[in-house]
Amino acid sequence: MTGWISRLMLAAALIATPALAQDQGPEARPLHKRDKWLPPSVPTSDDVLRIPAPAGYNAPKGSFVLVGGRLFDGTGAAARPATIVVEGKTITAVLKPDDRNWPKDAIVYDVTGKTVMPGLIDLHSHLTFLNSEDGANIYSSANLSGVESVMRGVKRMAVYLESGVTSVRDVGSHGDAPFVLKRLQASGELPGPRIFAAGQLITMTGGHGGVHAFGPGYPELGNGNPNAMVRIASGPDEWREAVRIQFAKGADLIKLASEYSQAEISAAVDEAHSLGLPVTVDSETDYIDMAIKAGVDSIEHPLPRSDAAIALMAKKGIASVPTLVAYRVIMRGSGGYFGSTSRRFELNERTIENMAAKLRRAGVKMGIGLDVVALAGTGYLPGSYIDELETFNRIGFTKTEALVAATKTGAEIIHMGDRLGTIERGKLADIIVVDGNPDEDFNALRKVTTAFVNGRLMLQDGRIYRPAHEEVPLPTRK
Ligand SMILES: [Zn+2]
Repeated sequence: MTGWISRLMLAAALIATPALAQDQGPEARPLHKRDKWLPPSVPTSDDVLRIPAPAGYNAPKGSFVLVGGRLFDGTGAAARPATIVVEGKTITAVLKPDDRNWPKDAIVYDVTGKTVMPGLIDLHSHLTFLNSEDGANIYSSANLSGVESVMRGVKRMAVYLESGVTSVRDVGSHGDAPFVLKRLQASGELPGPRIFAAGQLITMTGGHGGVHAFGPGYPELGNGNPNAMVRIASGPDEWREAVRIQFAKGADLIKLASEYSQAEISAAVDEAHSLGLPVTVDSETDYIDMAIKAGVDSIEHPLPRSDAAIALMAKKGIASVPTLVAYRVIMRGSGGYFGSTSRRFELNERTIENMAAKLRRAGVKMGIGLDVVALAGTGYLPGSYIDELETFNRIGFTKTEALVAATKTGAEIIHMGDRLGTIERGKLADIIVVDGNPDEDFNALRKVTTAFVNGRLMLQDGRIYRPAHEEVPLPTRK
């Protein structure tokens, strides 16, 4: 084949890619191999595993309506005046402004002049990460008590809510802490975003993040600390077992990190998919090729990869969470990127933005994840979220498209697109109210006044809302 013909065919393939990616997004991927056993009419849990559950389980009592606001529904449609009706945990109607067809006993919130929109999603958090904010260096992370991990998570969950984030995908936290936090949030006992947790990050001896398993200089200690945020695995069988351990704790997804052999990552991804868990990976260069071959569902960070790898990501519906703001913070702090995975490539603020622009042009599904928890806790919120949105805007997303990436696409990347990410009838009520028009100016997200998660009021007037304790009457004498 002559050169110009093959170039022409390549160009045609690249042009065709975005449509293909739409059809074969993460949700079209055959994640749940055993779905054939579950009729679609059976109600299931509101997490990634979709275990059969009674209809309306975990729904708060009562109903409420948001009247007088402009609705940005997250579907990509322009904002419009609308009334939103929520019953229990579910959005039951989106009404025209003059329609008052809602339950008589509903609580009415007047949101005149404000924007109602789906809660933001942060796809890359580490709720329990220990960093300088906590007066420690990263090495003490390996020797952290579970109690301390949970307390750190509680503090950060509040900041996420104040910043309008109603779901976080936790891609590596200490021991069982993320699962304790997830359970308490889901039951309404603890205000905070919905948590989708990976449990421990899995890597090889000496791999990225491995130091969080055993501290510096003592790799022979391996997985000796059950509260470590990283699990070391050697060989395909141990990678499978590491996946099973996170599954046993209640994982919603699996997080892997470079480096690994092809056999190791293929075993881990196969095991996760057999269990119905999506896989994301922190990876670079040749390790991205291996991750794609293994069939991962998403790839974190803006690290280098070939154009062929980008085309394959688009074709196979592998999403990207570029976490650009984290790398910007690192580069501004240390004049470059000198992390454990940076030994064979150069990285700067220009190359990471070029990488993100290439991914967008190829039609790769892209979501918003910050990863700034690993740098300064939640101190950088909400500015870091706004900065990531602005970068998405700069690399070619319209402002509306950037907010759709933050909501609808984020939900799709978690495999929750049918329940979260937009304000539509039947969706779970994760809703924020913003004083301003974030679809015109992202800085309005500095003024999130109200947040509901799963139909529960959790933020009011910009402050965490906790309902008063409800007394349980003592049993009466028979
Ligand atoms: Zn991270």
